[in-house]
Amino acid sequence: MRNILVSNDDGINFPGLFRLKQALDAVGKVTVIAPDREHTRSGHAKTMHKPLRIVQVELPDGSLAYSSSGAPSDCVALAVLGFLPELPDLVVSGINLGANVGQDITYSGTLAAAFEGTVSGIPSIAASLDTYEDGDFSYAARFVARLAEEVLARGLPANVLLNVNIPHVPEGKIAGVEITRLGRRLYRDQLIKRKDPRGRDYYWIGGEWPTGHTGDEGTDFWALARNCISITPLRLDMTDHSFLKDLRNWVISP
Ligand code: MN
Repeated sequence: MRNILVSNDDGINFPGLFRLKQALDAVGKVTVIAPDREHTRSGHAKTMHKPLRIVQVELPDGSLAYSSSGAPSDCVALAVLGFLPELPDLVVSGINLGANVGQDITYSGTLAAAFEGTVSGIPSIAASLDTYEDGDFSYAARFVARLAEEVLARGLPANVLLNVNIPHVPEGKIAGVEITRLGRRLYRDQLIKRKDPRGRDYYWIGGEWPTGHTGDEGTDFWALARNCISITPLRLDMTDHSFLKDLRNWVISP
């Protein structure tokens, strides 16, 4: 029996997590360790200066899961470092509310949990649904479960994970699966300055929801805009190999 670890960044009570767990029950022995609260856009964290707590909770189907005070990446680290009796064969993170495309991947807690699996040498998948409203995660969960079967059968190259984004349309409207590269986000963040009740300035990063360049063929944005599922292989090694050669020609004295 294959061991599958499921986590997320929207928290242990999020329906996207539960739907994913249910779909993966058909693929292997699923253990859920997820944050006790939302960690959206918290990035890849390692909690080292406060204790990590884990409590057992019950999911809506009566199964037991673990809720942790840590970040999404901590949840995976806990599992890998010995909280679980056996190492997972696969880590699946999600299903996130909101696509994780383009530059999102550096902010994303969903990706961070999957990257933590990759760092530990475990094949990992990050999965997100392209909507910011109440989502229906059932089709997305079933698709990710099929992909999980495939990853368990074939494995992944070392230091590579799969970033999956699923359009939020009825199943019959899904136009296909595209293997993509990262596209470009258009953030519309604005710095909002206000005064607190004591008269001191505070700042809030607000603004409109981000959009993206949907015209760049072959990107994750392009696929989602065409109602296609996007699967992007991501490397942990972020070295820019083409610029590395140019950089060697710079004269930088020690
Ligand atoms: Mn999230």
